Amino acid sequence: MERRKIIQVRDLVKKYGDFTAVQGISFDVDEGEIFGLLGPNGAGKSTTLEIIETLRDKTSGEVIVDGFNLDQHPDRIKKIIGVQLQTSGYYPNLNLVELIELFGGLYNKKVRPMDFLEMVNLKEKTRAKFKELSGGQKQRFSIATTLINQPKIIFLDEPTTGLDPQARRNLWDLIREVRDKGTTVVMTTHYMDEAEVLCDRCAIVDSGRIIALDSPDRLIDNLVATGFERPREVKKASLEDVFIQLTGKEYRDD
Ligand code: ADP
Repeated sequence: MERRKIIQVRDLVKKYGDFTAVQGISFDVDEGEIFGLLGPNGAGKSTTLEIIETLRDKTSGEVIVDGFNLDQHPDRIKKIIGVQLQTSGYYPNLNLVELIELFGGLYNKKVRPMDFLEMVNLKEKTRAKFKELSGGQKQRFSIATTLINQPKIIFLDEPTTGLDPQARRNLWDLIREVRDKGTTVVMTTHYMDEAEVLCDRCAIVDSGRIIALDSPDRLIDNLVATGFERPREVKKASLEDVFIQLTGKEYRDD
């Protein structure tokens, strides 16, 4: 079944002075999927994301989000998306409940902070301040804040960078739960293992261009169909599997 396209990007270009960071990319995001922009540092992933989020001007091209054209209706788009703040945006002296109430006020939504904190497994931390949280907890909290205005789409820019293996896996579960409740997720990552297990479809971005776009399985099948073989036999487990087996899967950052 054809899914509705909730984001359509056509021929998007972004120049910073003489430098063209995004070189005419086009892609669609289906409603209800986890869509990944993958690529090395400097590929243009954040720039693309921030343009769709209405936070950065584009040079040319067309962006349509849930039927609204970015050029005419940026305010309509802002209302239906959830964006992660840079961590410096959290008031240092407020605790988590107060921060969620503050965000609710900004969005003009009546919120029940405990519901959000429970969803991201932080209900033991209601009186903690943001700066007192571990890396994994900070990321979980910032995902909670993207959901406060009940958005149709959330944008996550490298949500697991710097996290330990348990915290990453917990965050993957959380992102899947968000998707399963009907929210479309657009995320960037430079971790290919993460994209492989988490993304329904992904675009591989390199030097401002999309060089491949499909589900991880199909991208891998296409490569294998060319006769590609890994240089040596793959081990049945990875060092990360060893680590997780030894240290356990439970939340370790609480
Ligand atoms: P990614 O998220 O894939 O790491 P970015 O979108 O952050 O890539 O950056 C793409 C390119 O644009 C990089 O070469 C970066 O240095 C450049 N760039 C990003 N922001 C600016 C800016 N405000 N001014 C000038 N160049 C920028």
